Amino acid sequence: MDQNSIKSVSILGATGTIGQNTLDLIRRNKEKFQVVAITGNQNIKELVKQAIEFQVEFVATACEEKYHELKEALAETNIQCAAGEQAIIEAATRPVDICMAAIVGVAGLKPTLKALESSELVALANKECLVSAGDLFMQSAKQHQTKLIPVDSEHSAAFQCLSGHQIAEITKLTLTASGGPFRSFSKEQLQVVTKEQALKHPNWEMGAKITIDSATLMNKGLELIEAKHLFSLTANQVDMVVHPQSIIHCLVSFIDGSVLAQLSEPDMRVPIAYSLSWPKRMKTPIEPINLVEISKMDFEAGDEERFPCLKLARQVMETETFNGPALNAANEIAVDAFLSDKCSYIQIPQIIENVLDKMQNELKTIDRFCINDILQTDKLARNMALNLL
Ligand code: NDP
Ligand code: MG
Repeated sequence: MDQNSIKSVSILGATGTIGQNTLDLIRRNKEKFQVVAITGNQNIKELVKQAIEFQVEFVATACEEKYHELKEALAETNIQCAAGEQAIIEAATRPVDICMAAIVGVAGLKPTLKALESSELVALANKECLVSAGDLFMQSAKQHQTKLIPVDSEHSAAFQCLSGHQIAEITKLTLTASGGPFRSFSKEQLQVVTKEQALKHPNWEMGAKITIDSATLMNKGLELIEAKHLFSLTANQVDMVVHPQSIIHCLVSFIDGSVLAQLSEPDMRVPIAYSLSWPKRMKTPIEPINLVEISKMDFEAGDEERFPCLKLARQVMETETFNGPALNAANEIAVDAFLSDKCSYIQIPQIIENVLDKMQNELKTIDRFCINDILQTDKLARNMALNLL
């Protein structure tokens, strides 16, 4: 990729918060990027608005029922459009310099694997890809020699701190967690929390699924697994600490006793910008942090008693993540159920634990490098979680 030429970009999940933040940065740097393809699901209004503003070549919605609405809205333009799972894959297949992979959930797995084949660089926001299929995903990135740049803020921080260092020089990677809206709630208080409370994240503005994951600390659990795969670490080299201000995003400890960290305001445009401009940096509207204004930073241990999702994810990470697809699928169903008032907050980890227990024997036989095995496990875990509900 020539660093000075215009970079072609596709955005999978353009209508989501990561997608919209990506387009916000591109809008401010129009001379540097050309958006080729974008995808969405339900939000056709936003998708059409984006397609016209950025004059993209191809637009896809995952939702087949929305095809006519999309087609009609683009009738007066030369923009091609399509609908359905295959259409998302088609968008991911367009050869581009950068593909922003920002679909939520395992729905992003097949398209993102496709993007690894056809893009020079994949900016990876969709952590569920690595939780469900980390071994296969990393193998594919290597095989296609595709640069993988993490967008998740903690992993972007780690990636930046690791630049110029060898993995063998790391002793520990510590991801920070805000602790979410229930950080100081007692076990009794957690029994009655509502989805409205859970959806109010103290520091970050994000899509509904990851906001609930942050409230259960499953998000940090998923991120431990994500980090293990991205940086080829062992389970005991990856840890987390609660840091309510979300200013430090990750700490990397080295064999010589040094610790490097990356600090910035909690605004996803910082890590997104890094993934778009790598190996250079680009301007963003975010001011550097002011230490005097922040004045103090706090740290505490993650409490696996009150937040059992963290423990479940850690156990999955320690067992070589062969049960990653089941953990992810059960969590997706449980979070969905919580958001549609079909289960309570404290039932989320109960459902996941139950699914993991029930599937234990089947899980040992899956091939972690086989997409069909992974998707089969995902389906089985989903059905099991739905039955429990
Ligand atoms: P959002 O819910 O805001 O957006 C999700 C995107 O995926 C939307 O474009 C949505 O379309 C699309 N989508 C939903 N379901 C499907 C499907 N079945 N097939 C294809 N596309 C689909 O999520 P976020 O932007 O917050 O998060 C995206 C990913 O990035 C997640 O994996 C998340 O964990 C990760 N991430 C997000 C961070 C954040 O700050 N938001 C931080 C770090 C990681 P539509 O809206 O049109 O229905
Ligand atoms: Mg994160």
